[in-house]
Amino acid sequence: MPFVRLPDGTVAHVRMQKGRSKRCKVCGHLTAQRFLRECDFTLPNGKTCDLLMCDKCAFEVKPNFDLCPLHSPERVFQAQPRPKESI
Ligand SMILES: [Zn+2]
Ligand SMILES: [Zn+2]
Repeated sequence: MPFVRLPDGTVAHVRMQKGRSKRCKVCGHLTAQRFLRECDFTLPNGKTCDLLMCDKCAFEVKPNFDLCPLHSPERVFQAQPRPKESI
């Protein structure tokens, strides 16, 4: 267990978020599991996409039905074009 020594001499446990956070497959941010969603899009092979993503990356079509950016009908998260910078 990792410890942190506080300025007053006390030693505090650091709570490990072991197994409680995973990386969003879209933006790559480490996200607490309770905020993670899975894409509910049904693929041609009958399976669901199940792409793990954070709250921000998920596109909630209806309650308990989220889509990843790839499968979002509105593609609200499509990559933004790089702004051209004139030198
Ligand atoms: Zn994300
Ligand atoms: Zn998907």
